[in-house]
Amino acid sequence: NRKPKIVILGAGYGGMMTASRLQKANAYQDADITLVNKHNYHYQTTWLHEPAAGTLHHDRTRMKIDRVIDTNKIQFIKDSVTEIKKDEKKVILEKGELDYDYLVIGLGSEPETFGIPGVKEHAFSIRSVNSVRLIREHIEYMFANYNKQEEKHDDLLTFVVAGAGFTGIEFVGELSERIPELCEEYDIAREKVKLYSVEAAPTALPGFDEELVEYAMNLLESRGVEFKINTPIKEVQDGVVLLADGEEIKSQTIVWTTGVRGNSVIEKSGFEAMRGRVKVEKDLRAPGYDDVFIIGDCALIINEEINRPYPPTAQIAIQQAYTCANNLKALLAGKTDMEEFKPDIKGTVASLGGKEAIGKVGDRKLYGNSASAVKKIIDNRYLFLLGGMPLVLKKGKLNIF
Ligand code: FAD
Ligand code: NAD
Repeated sequence: NRKPKIVILGAGYGGMMTASRLQKANAYQDADITLVNKHNYHYQTTWLHEPAAGTLHHDRTRMKIDRVIDTNKIQFIKDSVTEIKKDEKKVILEKGELDYDYLVIGLGSEPETFGIPGVKEHAFSIRSVNSVRLIREHIEYMFANYNKQEEKHDDLLTFVVAGAGFTGIEFVGELSERIPELCEEYDIAREKVKLYSVEAAPTALPGFDEELVEYAMNLLESRGVEFKINTPIKEVQDGVVLLADGEEIKSQTIVWTTGVRGNSVIEKSGFEAMRGRVKVEKDLRAPGYDDVFIIGDCALIINEEINRPYPPTAQIAIQQAYTCANNLKALLAGKTDMEEFKPDIKGTVASLGGKEAIGKVGDRKLYGNSASAVKKIIDNRYLFLLGGMPLVLKKGKLNIF
């Protein structure tokens, strides 16, 4: 009488929280549970703009998985998923394979390039600890190199952030705070440095509250950020960004933040998907596959009030993990009645670097220091849900005001 096997792919917000909920519910007594992740650590994707700019050390955004998950109760495998053979109930890893009775896919997202030429080859992305460590090092290297040259190359000190969605704006916010420090450190005048935020839509943060967008743009402009709005990027070449209006910006640093698509494993495994995201059933299972749950950025759910997909967020991934864990527990107990997922969107708060942020929580608009404090409380709340007060004290943002 063997126990059913539950395999969880990805230890991001969705996967970690599902594993943690199953552990708390003692589900390992009724099932063999395995968590698979590329790295032996869990990182907080929502903090990555900070280590990318160098305003926070990357170790603050990550934690060893076995410090949070009891690996005597949930087996952990450090490996990369390459494909899911859903009809054979198998997962192919780089170094092996696993079979499952129930699968949870929480592999997160990848940068959306919209097929724009040169992006993959010449742009950086804010995606993982590895990718942001590279951005930080690269930016410093540009500063270090500038004074080395007899003839000054301005493209070394020109930074282009493609896309002024939340990721782009949060990164520009951090970088605009970091630049004066770098200028000081490398003896460079602030006016030498150019930081562009390039956005295709008629406004930064399209769809967000106009007053808050204006506040953010004014603040960032006061720190020297130059916005190019209504200006799609059409191509990236080595050392140059080509804009749709014909302008070219020479830059050695292009950070690509024009949105995300679901992990490529989804399409490779033959799931029907829109931009790599599977439109899941109300109980978070993949259509036609009752043994596969998909959560987080790989899942697509529709906001029925406006008949459009919810933007993929950590907020939703975490909430989905609760529903997913409850449904797995029900299945283990032999029940067929599944809980339906209903997102409870509390709001959106975006940091702008330093002690500045903007946000909308319910109908309330938040600016400046109070928004920044709320943002840190949100970050700490997640750590609390995952690992209680000890994790908050170890990794949390304690300097709230
Ligand atoms: P992730 O948390 O990204 O985790 C995916 C995991 O899968 C990672 O650990 C990865 O290493 C692993 N993985 C990937 N591929 C493989 C593979 N092939 N094999 C094995 N493991 C693999 N959302 C908010 O709600 N609020 C915010 O303030 C916010 N801020 C953000 C700021 C930034 C800079 C960014 C980039 C995003 C932000 N988001 C925010 C969005 C949020 O980060 C994502 O929606 C969320 O991380 C999705 O969770 P997930 O569990 O699906 O994936
Ligand atoms: P996004 O889709 O929200 O924004 C991408 C932006 O890039 C859009 O404004 C788009 O018009 C622009 N764009 C697209 N193509 C372009 C081009 N060729 N040239 C110039 N601009 C172009 O994506 P994101 O900012 O990467 O965020 C991904 C997800 O993570 C979203 O769901 C977002 O809500 C979430 N997120 C949330 C927060 C927060 O709540 N604080 C922070 C970061 C990300």
